[in-house]
Amino acid sequence: MTPLPILDNHMHLNPSGRCLEAVREFARAGGTHIVLVSLPPWSLGIEISAPEDYRKVFDRVLKIARMAEEAEKVKVFVVLGVHPAELNKFYGRFGLARAVEIMKGGLEVAREYVDNGRAIGLKSGRPHYEVEPKLWDASNDIMRHSFGLAKDSACAVQLHTESATEGTLEEIGKMARDAGLSPEKVVKHFSPPMVKACEKAGIFPSVLAGEDAIQKALAEGTRFMMETDYIDDLKRPGSVLGPKTVPKRTKQLIPEWGEDVFWKIHKENPEKVYGVEINI
Ligand SMILES: [Zn+2]
Repeated sequence: MTPLPILDNHMHLNPSGRCLEAVREFARAGGTHIVLVSLPPWSLGIEISAPEDYRKVFDRVLKIARMAEEAEKVKVFVVLGVHPAELNKFYGRFGLARAVEIMKGGLEVAREYVDNGRAIGLKSGRPHYEVEPKLWDASNDIMRHSFGLAKDSACAVQLHTESATEGTLEEIGKMARDAGLSPEKVVKHFSPPMVKACEKAGIFPSVLAGEDAIQKALAEGTRFMMETDYIDDLKRPGSVLGPKTVPKRTKQLIPEWGEDVFWKIHKENPEKVYGVEINI
């Protein structure tokens, strides 16, 4: 029997964190595939003052992905882009117009990596905390830009946003459709187990695998992926789920839910959303 692939749909790895040790933990627990998402530039000690500077961030992420694949029996897919918190920082340094330009430019650079096959999707979003209206509007503008780029490159976008409600999911789904992007390609990262509400809005949820979230998600269906948002920051231990959570949780739930639902979650769903092949 073919072994079940197990994919964590949103992880970070940082050379200043546990990095390859975290990958080993994931692999030993039964994890086989990682969607590695770019960190904000400052987490990697990189200063951004122009869009081209994002290449340093993205090349570093690609290097970490390669190192992880060489060290363990895992496949690492990369998602690149900008983090909504960057807007606040750049706004203070460069003013709003230039800050938006840098972030949109960063997304355009990320899109190049998608186009030449080095990344499988973009990362964008808007703040999960309250900000001034003009920063909110600018964040939406940047997110819309990512949708347009994703449409042109036929790739997925992982979103970091405020907490999901039916209203915000519908709004984001509509924004994607208005940009010509199927909301099926819009992945709500850090999602609560709102499988049905996401399906209604067309958005694809990446459910945070904490506590009983996956049981709740399964009770609503199998149209979701699983993630830890492991941040790999030694200064914030325990602030997020550990690297072995997704494989551990999956194995815990198989006796009750069967393996078929997890073939859907760890293979069929990511294959469809990202247009990749998930094989062991
Ligand atoms: Zn994250």
